[in-house]
Order: sequence, then structure tokens, then C-alpha cells
Amino acid sequence: MLIDTFGRRINYLRLSITDRCNLRCSYCMPAHGIEGKRPARDVLSYEELREITQAAVEIGVEKVRITGGEPLVRKGVVPFLAGLSAIAGLKKLVLTTNGMMLEEMARDLKLAGVESINISLDSMRPEVFRKITRVGELSRVLAGVEAAERVFRHVKINVVVMRGVNDEEVLDFAALTLDKPINVRFIEYMPTTRESGWRSLMVSGGEILTRLSHRFRIEKEVRDSLEGPAVNYRIKGAAGKVGFITPISQHFCQSCNRLRVTSSGMVKSCLFEEQTVNLKPYLAAGDQAGLREALAGVARSKPSQHAFLVPGSADSQRFSMSQIGG
Ligand code: SAM
Ligand code: SF4
Repeated sequence: MLIDTFGRRINYLRLSITDRCNLRCSYCMPAHGIEGKRPARDVLSYEELREITQAAVEIGVEKVRITGGEPLVRKGVVPFLAGLSAIAGLKKLVLTTNGMMLEEMARDLKLAGVESINISLDSMRPEVFRKITRVGELSRVLAGVEAAERVFRHVKINVVVMRGVNDEEVLDFAALTLDKPINVRFIEYMPTTRESGWRSLMVSGGEILTRLSHRFRIEKEVRDSLEGPAVNYRIKGAAGKVGFITPISQHFCQSCNRLRVTSSGMVKSCLFEEQTVNLKPYLAAGDQAGLREALAGVARSKPSQHAFLVPGSADSQRFSMSQIGG
């Protein structure tokens, strides 16, 4: 079991398998893609990603989320996932996707051992969806959501709420849970690209909850230990749930259980932490013990809370979410 210096049990790895993406969401990437995109050789091979996962499981990780960039654009992802799901001791293999390729791939992902899927969908209005993603086609994502619903028991829809962009849609998103057993999670917008004025875009989870409470009768749900940071509610009588992920207004650092590894092999203990450790030398040397120790060392040195809570730092920390994996 892996316990950090603040007594938190670290059992969740977010593994980014590519920094490439078939969308260009305004809050995640510049319109022309990532500056200084990595040459393909910088990206870890599937074998290396598997070794990292194996080492992470050996030190106490029980849940792995595959992310990116867009994980489904990487060739060979299905057999890679089948290999990961066979790792003894890994209890949950899950994946986050923009849904663009899900209609074709949902069944194969399930057969490969993926237990549940998070789909990022910020608008159900075609023109707003296109404005946010710059190149996305809403109909493809909606078809992907339907395919996922047919195949997976747990489907979550992640909505990054932005004032004046898609915040008018929070009631529509919540209403989706009335008949469908999906979990719609509202995520606070985080300032990760170089835009100024991010605070005016951010709508707090509290504000969204108030708006929902004016329309629906809402009850709080009991928390599950591998569930992650979302605080969940249910509209009375609804088949699904609504959740709130509030990294800005009400951070959940005290219960954070995660490690992150980027597609180029850098391990980070926090999304907002600048310090990283490069795992490539251990992979190149075939040093499994070193790999385990490097992962455990980063986990133990996890900061008590993220840097947004330090006055002024939120404006100096900038990175591309697609490189870290959200
Ligand atoms: N491409 C996949 C997708 O979009 O689901 C996986 C990678 S994406 C970086 C992971 C998550 O990070 C998505 O749910 C996305 O909405 C979220 N994200 C990216 N930038 C964000 C930001 N600035 N604020 C809040 N969430 C963000
Ligand atoms: Fe791509 Fe996901 Fe970033 Fe959107 S949020 S640009 S889909 S990586």
C-alpha cells in the first residue's frame, strides 16, 4: 500500500498514452495544436506504458485511467488495453475520451477489459460544440455516447462549464439523467492555456448546484472510495446522477489519491505540480525496481494541496492539459 507524507493512500494512476488529438478544445489546446509537439520517438511505446503500469500496480495502484490527448487516436490501443487489463492486481481499467471514435470502438474497448468510460461533451448545441472543439462534430459524439450506453454499465459525461459559452445548458445536461443511468459531471474550468480572464469563465460547482436546485429536487449520494473527486447528487427519482468536480472553488486535495504519467514518461504527483521525474532512464535500463522506487518517491512527495491555493500562482502556472491528460 502506498501512503504519502500526508497520510493519503495513492491507488489511482492517470496514464496519458498520446498528446495528439482529433479535436482542438479551446480550453485545452491552441487552435493549431500543441506548440513544439513531441516527435513520435518521445512518446512511450506500448511496452513501456505497460511496464509503468505493472510497476505502479506492484506499489499499490488499483485503478488506471487511460487518457491523452485523445487515447482512441493512437493505433493499436485496443490490444494494448487488453494487455493492461490482464495485469494481476489491477482492479479497474477505465478510459476518458472525446467520443469522436467511440461509435466504432465501444464494443472492442469493452472486450479489451475497459470497465467504464468517461466521455467529454461540453455542449449539445451543434454550433456551440463546434465553437468549443473548433473541429468536432456533435453528431459523432452523440452516436458515441449511445454506443457506450449500449455496451458499458457505467457511462459518465464530463462537462466543463464556461460562463457565457455553455453554462445555459446545465439544466439540459442534468435532465439527461432523468431517464438514463448515466452520470453527468460538471467540471470547473481551469486556467491551463494562455488565455487571460479565465476567472470570469469559471462557474463554480456551488453556483451550478443552486441553479439545478431551482428546477429539480436534488439529493446527495453516498461516496465510493475509488470514485474520484466528484461529489454526486441525484435528481429525485432519476435513473442517473449529477456530479460536481470543483478543483478551483472547493479543492479535494485532502482526499487526492492520484499519480499522473505523461505520454513521454514524466511522472507527476499533481496536475499543478511543476516538478516531474523522468521514467525513461529506468525503462531503458530495464530497471523495474528503480521504476517502482521512482513512482513511489513521487507519490510520497505529493504536495498537500495544489498551487491554485497559493495567491498569485494560478496566473503563473500554464501548461497544456492534452500533454498531461486532464
Ligand atoms: N481527449 C480526451 C477527452 O477530452 O476526454 C481525454 C483527455 S482530456 C485532456 C481529459 C479531460 O480534461 C477532459 O474531460 C477535458 O474536458 C478536461 N479538461 C481539459 N482542459 C480543461 C480545463 N482547462 N479545465 C477543466 N477541464 C479540462
Ligand atoms: Fe483533445 Fe480532450 Fe484536449 Fe479536447 S480536451 S483538445 S478532446 S485532449
